[in-house]
Amino acid sequence: MIEEKFDAIVVGAGMSGNAAAYTMASQGLNVLQLERGEYPGSKNVQGAIMYANMLEKIIPDFRDDAPLERHLVEQRLWIMDDTSHTGIHYRSDDFNEAKPNRYTIIRAQFDKWFSRKVREAGATVLCETTVTELVRDTKDKVIGVRTDRTGGEILADVVVLAEGVSGLLGTRARLREMPKPKSVALAVKEMHFLPEEVIEQRFGLKAGEGCVIEAVGTISRSMAGLGFLYTNKESISLGIGCLVSDFASMMESPYVILDALKSHPSIRPLIAGSEVKEYAAHLIPEGGYKAIPQLFGDGWVVVGDAAQLNNAVHREGSNLAMTSGRIAAEAIVQVKSRTRPMTKQNLALYKTMLEKSFVIKDLKKYKDMPALLHTNSQNFFTTYPQLMSQAAQNFMRVDGTPKIDKEKATTAAFIKARSRWGLVSDVVRLAFAWR
Ligand SMILES: Cc1cc2nc3c(=O)[nH]c(=O)nc-3n(C[C@H](O)[C@H](O)[C@H](O)COP(=O)(O)OP(=O)(O)OC[C@H]3O[C@@H](n4cnc5c(N)ncnc54)[C@H](O)[C@@H]3O)c2cc1C
Repeated sequence: MIEEKFDAIVVGAGMSGNAAAYTMASQGLNVLQLERGEYPGSKNVQGAIMYANMLEKIIPDFRDDAPLERHLVEQRLWIMDDTSHTGIHYRSDDFNEAKPNRYTIIRAQFDKWFSRKVREAGATVLCETTVTELVRDTKDKVIGVRTDRTGGEILADVVVLAEGVSGLLGTRARLREMPKPKSVALAVKEMHFLPEEVIEQRFGLKAGEGCVIEAVGTISRSMAGLGFLYTNKESISLGIGCLVSDFASMMESPYVILDALKSHPSIRPLIAGSEVKEYAAHLIPEGGYKAIPQLFGDGWVVVGDAAQLNNAVHREGSNLAMTSGRIAAEAIVQVKSRTRPMTKQNLALYKTMLEKSFVIKDLKKYKDMPALLHTNSQNFFTTYPQLMSQAAQNFMRVDGTPKIDKEKATTAAFIKARSRWGLVSDVVRLAFAWR
């Protein structure tokens, strides 16, 4: 057993854990961070877009030495059927600013860098150490952790659970329920390596610039899902994720839909000639606001994916993770500086502070969206993408058909597929979920 008692133990060295450990250590707390992976980032998977604003609030000068891949100047949103994509592309030279807003990163490298910052701030970081259990006192207050190391019981005033989406530790300790299959997506991702100049030529980029594509449609085979392609310096991250409950009920395999995405005529040329060096699969919380569990208790707080803080509508997770980690840490520092105990009542400050941030405000705004998309996946992910492709093609083919007849044919196709009431109800429900 480690004899020393810590101010705080952080379980996990992902985005949320590193944000929490760094913030507490740099404010003088005695912090121990435990990570089960061989090194921070070895177990972590992300697309990955990293949002600068949230990291700046933790490490303002991160651009000086963080391993950043490309800053994003273009975003493409594609609605796909089996042979086409209909897209909205937004590119702006304004994104070529002195301090760009979004970057692609590779988590294995980025998490190592973040962890180095945590150690430099004064925290003790132990890798290859799995926390197996929370230690409680006779009044059920969490007072430390047990690990898989011999005699591994370590005490602290507060434990920050930053253990990621499946959160077995918190579930085993009955702090929250196991995430339900209908509120988590399973995403699979490959890294396709290509020379830097080939990537820049294919996406029309200058050195350092990046482009991302996010895609919905028949690629997810009527399941609620999203495909993504992100440009790194010398690689392309390509992946797709769908709800776990949909994979189960549709008897689909993640590898099969990823293979289909790779051979789609709109994607194939973008990755042609690449060498695949990495393959990963990971869960993503998708339940939104309604899936957020209890965030604090006697001697503990939960942050990041473990608290299901993920905005599936905007495909943001790492920024919610960093922000919740930072805010939890700031709340702990405040409780400590007032020399108050880390009780449930005092740690409620974390929730109060989080509710004032974009994290909870954004999740509340779209609280009905996950359920709407998930229960109407056939319409939103197959029927409408196919209809959009038909409509676009109908208008682009110049074949002597009068335009008035083309318009009638498009309207008739939509009504045939969904009926007038079906269309109106989808639009109204979408508008309400988006409000
Ligand atoms: C395919 C994919 C693409 C994504 N793309 C994006 C994107 O582009 N942009 C974005 O913002 N977000 C994205 N996300 C979401 C983002 O990755 C997560 O929101 C973010 O990583 C959450 O950080 P976290 O620290 O809460 O959890 P994690 O990063 O999962 O870290 C948890 C850590 O805890 C450790 N751990 C777990 N249990 C224990 C234990 N018992 N003892 C010790 N250590 C433990 C794990 O090894 C891990 O290091 C994506 C996710 C996936 C899967």
